[in-house]
Formats: sequence, structure tokens, C-alpha cells
Amino acid sequence: MMSDQPSDADERRAGRPVICYPNDTLPPFDRSFYLSARDGAELVTRVVADPRDAASFRVDAGQFFRIMSVDGPQVGDLNLWNAHDLSERFYSGKTRALHGTHVTEGERLWSSFPFLRPMATITKDTLGWYGMDAFGGSVHDVIGTRCDPYTGNLLSGSQYHHCCHSNLTRALADATDLSLAEAETHVHDVLNVFMCTGFTRDTGQYFMKASPVRPGDYIEFFAEIDLLGALSACPGGDCSAEHSSNAAACYPLVVEIYQPRSDRLAGWEPPQINGYDRSHGR
Ligand SMILES: [Zn+2]
Repeated sequence: MMSDQPSDADERRAGRPVICYPNDTLPPFDRSFYLSARDGAELVTRVVADPRDAASFRVDAGQFFRIMSVDGPQVGDLNLWNAHDLSERFYSGKTRALHGTHVTEGERLWSSFPFLRPMATITKDTLGWYGMDAFGGSVHDVIGTRCDPYTGNLLSGSQYHHCCHSNLTRALADATDLSLAEAETHVHDVLNVFMCTGFTRDTGQYFMKASPVRPGDYIEFFAEIDLLGALSACPGGDCSAEHSSNAAACYPLVVEIYQPRSDRLAGWEPPQINGYDRSHGR
């Protein structure tokens, strides 16, 4: 039930928003460095995430990786870990706080505490033209979590095994020597690649709509540190109707990894971990 309004309700609502984290002090996006590194880079690995399944891949610091739509519109759920320490993983919440609800070229995927450094930089996004639509929807969100069997069970009592959460769990277990139960604890909130989402303006609810992605579209990243990645081709397909079932048309996603010419990375080094001293006031 709606609470009673105070007499100065309109005045309180009229307060102007202030950006929480002005990001003009972040390390700048050095476009010419990334363009030069990408020019002439050689394809070294190609991995396919089958529909309603996930694939893992390893990317060395200084390589590029590209996630591509191939046979039809399909969204992907991406997890990233430091290849040498799974406790450093992609932090979608802080990436959202720093860059906004959706990410595109020039923005970074940040890692968890206490590391908080760029894991990957988005160097190319063929859906960058989409911008923000009339519904407040945009592409490549860091607001969703990942479709999972627990929420499905909570809402409808289902036992569905090919949600992105389970796909990512299997992929990580296969890529490491972890059991499924151990691997599951490392699966985290994702970058929703190609997914078109937003919040409804009236109720603030998370919505999805048909992804504008088409075969040939891609998003490309520069790996700032050595990465282990896992990508799930979501059972929601283009996410125009539903997920967490086998109802939607689903297509594979391709990950390509590119090795730059060594001279193009001269002088470049992976970013240091965060400089906070971790004494926490003691
Ligand atoms: Zn999913």
C-alpha cells in the first residue's frame, strides 16, 4: 500500500541527480594503441558455444577476443576470471556503477575486490549504433544476473538444467579440475552480451526485448590480464519472449582469439591491482 505523501513531496522529488562516480579520472581509453595492436593481429583460436550450452576459453594478456553472432540472433552470458586466481572475477555491479547499465566501446570490465582493475577493455562493438531506445532499453547489460535454475524453481517449481548459470558451471568445471559444486561457487553475475534490456519507467522492473544482434555482429575485447572466460549461449535465444526453457530458437555463439604482432605491444603492461592498502582503519 502506498504511504501518505508529505506536504513537500514534490520539492523532495525535484532534487537534481548527481552522478555517483564521475568517471573522468579513470585511465583513458587509448584508442590509437588498441587500433594499432589489433591491426594485423592473427586469429589463433576459435571456440563455439553451442545453443543452450557454454564454452570456456583462455586469453593471454595482450590478446583480443571477439564474441560473434553467427547463425541467428542470440544472446550470451559472459563470465571472466583471472586465469591464475579464480577469486579475481568480473564485477558487474562495480562495472555498472562506473560505466552505466550497459557497456560499449571504450569501456572496461572491472574485477572484484580487492583487485578492482580492468580485466578487459571493449575495443569494438558493432551494436554501438543502438544507443538507448524509446523504452530505455540498450545492449550489453550489466544489470541482469544470469538465468538460473533456482529462480526458475522459485517462480514455477521447475528443474531446468540448461540455464546460463548451469551452463557456466559445467564449462568452468570442465576447464578446471573443480567439481560441479565447487565450480558453481565461482560463477558470477555476467555481462549480458547482445542482450537488449532495461528497467520499466513505471515499475522499475527488469525487462528484456528482442536483441538487435544479427549474424556478423560482434563485440571485441582486449584482455588486460590473463583470462579464463566462459560464455553461455542463453536458452532465451534472442530473449524476445522467454528464457529458462527450451521454447526459444537458439543459435551458437563464436569466440575468436587474436594475437597481436609482438612489436605492437611494446611498452604495454597489464594493469596493477588496486592501490588501496587494505588496512580498513585498523
Ligand atoms: Zn541465460
